[in-house]
Amino acid sequence: MSISPFAIAIHGGAGTILRENLTPELDKQIRAALEQSVRAGYDILNKGGDALDASVAAVKVLEDCPHFNAGKGSVMTHTEMVEMDASVMHGKEMEAGAVAAVKHIKNPIELARDVMNKSEHVFLIGDGAEEFAFDNGFDYTEQDYFFTDRRYEQLQSMKESGTFGLSESKFPDDKKFGTVGAVALDKFGNLAAATSTGGLTNKKYGRVGDSPIIGAGTFAENNNVAISTTGMGECFIRKMVAADVAARMRYLKEDVYTASEMVIQGELKLMGGEGGLIAIDHQGNIHNAMNSLGMYRASINVHGQLDVAIFADEVLKAS
Ligand code: ASP
Repeated sequence: MSISPFAIAIHGGAGTILRENLTPELDKQIRAALEQSVRAGYDILNKGGDALDASVAAVKVLEDCPHFNAGKGSVMTHTEMVEMDASVMHGKEMEAGAVAAVKHIKNPIELARDVMNKSEHVFLIGDGAEEFAFDNGFDYTEQDYFFTDRRYEQLQSMKESGTFGLSESKFPDDKKFGTVGAVALDKFGNLAAATSTGGLTNKKYGRVGDSPIIGAGTFAENNNVAISTTGMGECFIRKMVAADVAARMRYLKEDVYTASEMVIQGELKLMGGEGGLIAIDHQGNIHNAMNSLGMYRASINVHGQLDVAIFADEVLKAS
């Protein structure tokens, strides 16, 4: 009897991640968190669980870890708040759920999943999304929970330089996007994707990036591919990155490696769309593509082999 393949990949953000800027201690902590996340998702798949449950479980681990820009570790807005975005997609019926600019939800990825499962809508934002959350049993989480000195200092430094986006040289280890995501294939052939973020430091005016936008930051389609992205959201929205990879595979019959690389290294890069993506196809082939110097990532492939990597030039054993 043949065993149905199952596998999972996760990311914790892409960007200018340099060896000289990462202390051995931080490197170790980040790799440990990535491994914990991918194992949380894999355990669910191994027990016969659904690809979306596995993806959400993996993302939740990273949302709870202050090293990543999602949930607990979210970056701060211009007004010294946290505003988080998240989305999920299940490839079977191509159902999706998303939230943007939520401020009092500990795990926005669970809210995105509930928007998919418990509402008639795909995308809820701001106060309305929170009202839906509390109606459906979510706890109110004070902004204090998300506050960290590091994110506050990053914000002040960015305000001084009048920029938004990536933290600059004062915080070299943070010259990256820290959005988190997961993609999975379960034993029943379902593909799913999940993405969660705090967005960009010093963002204003209710700015929302690609992460909660289905087709830009997240996409899943059974018998094809599941994708989660990280990078400069404005460019990823304009290029509809996740949907474009899926379309290339669907229409051009490109494999997951070729389609992902064509999109990430192509016009996206030319327009300044620094970042990357993780993708898994319907056979469980995993590819991590990036045009940045690094991307926090981990995977467990169809043979059960674990890979954890940070820098672009790290060769994965398994994928
Ligand atoms: N894509 C996210 C955004 O633009 C940022 C990130 O990947 O960290 O909001």
